[in-house]
Amino acid sequence: MDELKKIFNQNLDDVLNKINIESVNIEKKVIKWRRIIHQNPELGNREYKTAELVAQHLEKIGLEVTRNVAYTGVVGLLRGNRSEPVVALRADMDALPIKEALDLPFSSKITTIYNGEEVPVMHACGHDAHTAILMGVAEVLSKISSDIPGTIKFIFQPSEDSRPDGEEGGAKLMIDKGILENPQVNAIFGLHVVPFPVGKIGVREGGLMAGVDNFWIKVKGRATHGAMPWTGIDPIPIAAQIILGLQNIISRQIDSTQDSAILTIGKIHGGEQPNMIPNEVQIIGTVRTFNEALNSFIRKKIELISVNIADSFGACAEVTFSNEKSPVTYNDAELTKNMYPFIERVVGKENIFNPNPIPVGEDFAYYQQKIPGLFLLLGTAPIDEHLVALNHSPYFYVEESGLIQGIKTLSYLAYSWLEQKK
Ligand SMILES: [Zn+2]
Ligand SMILES: [Zn+2]
Repeated sequence: MDELKKIFNQNLDDVLNKINIESVNIEKKVIKWRRIIHQNPELGNREYKTAELVAQHLEKIGLEVTRNVAYTGVVGLLRGNRSEPVVALRADMDALPIKEALDLPFSSKITTIYNGEEVPVMHACGHDAHTAILMGVAEVLSKISSDIPGTIKFIFQPSEDSRPDGEEGGAKLMIDKGILENPQVNAIFGLHVVPFPVGKIGVREGGLMAGVDNFWIKVKGRATHGAMPWTGIDPIPIAAQIILGLQNIISRQIDSTQDSAILTIGKIHGGEQPNMIPNEVQIIGTVRTFNEALNSFIRKKIELISVNIADSFGACAEVTFSNEKSPVTYNDAELTKNMYPFIERVVGKENIFNPNPIPVGEDFAYYQQKIPGLFLLLGTAPIDEHLVALNHSPYFYVEESGLIQGIKTLSYLAYSWLEQKK
């Protein structure tokens, strides 16, 4: 048994050495790709050039490539020394309608037409880095394909952050198009660059990024003259009561030692002028949670509070939730525990941190609803602290010396997961 373990570990170390060497070899190329993509950002479902760069690269290194999946998605298959099991690695390719504020040699000057308007475009979420890293991982793993005990599916996904109004897209559409089948994928890994110290890898079991659930409330009263409110039903103070009532869900009804949630009202609209009481007030808001049960609980409470407060004043409230609520990015407990030692082995204990949950959405969650998945964070904060900016900021900056840690980690995770499961 010990002997077997030794051989097994020996092989893992041997492949790890190869991955380390190939990652160093490819680092410069990855940075070059990242800069090309950064300088030519494309919005969601319109990643034509980015997808072509990816597809040509994957073909060049011998992968089986499918183009135009869910608009511009690219899927590459790398076959190892056996066909099963199958593991997937995912990168997203889209940029955001933001004007880049930094003056880098490869800053974006691109504008495009988006929802009928001309907008600037910038890779302000680091998806340029994700795409370049995964192109690098594909090349690293293609060089050691004879060591790989299974198949690796590379998923280059469009439209994680942006897409024109009314269009479908992103992970959900990729899944609807069947990318987790033929061959059937058994587990998936991905990562996101964040402004944490360079080269640190964030690993968190359970909810990492929030489920996003938007809601609309219509408070229906009865219009009348502003000077004689008793002759109608004024929906404006009722809406105010509802808003205060909703905040009580978060502050009074959730065990804050166990769980957290965020409820934000982003817009209220009702009425036109000082002396008229309107018929209706609209309230729009968003809920962020880190587990689905809590989200269901909050949904029920929003409905209950809105309807009953309105009712108690003789008005009525209609609550609707978005059909396209995005689920919690939830790292499978068993997968996270199993892979932890391998992450430690590839990046070193000192480079792993346990991040707090992040209350923004990430559609990697859709893959995790279908199969066990692990989503990691990769620190790429600028060395100069004054330059640190959050994702989606026009000042967002990726410290490129952190990218190699992402290449190594994804490469080794894919390999070691297959090695474990074969
Ligand atoms: Zn984003
Ligand atoms: Zn992102």
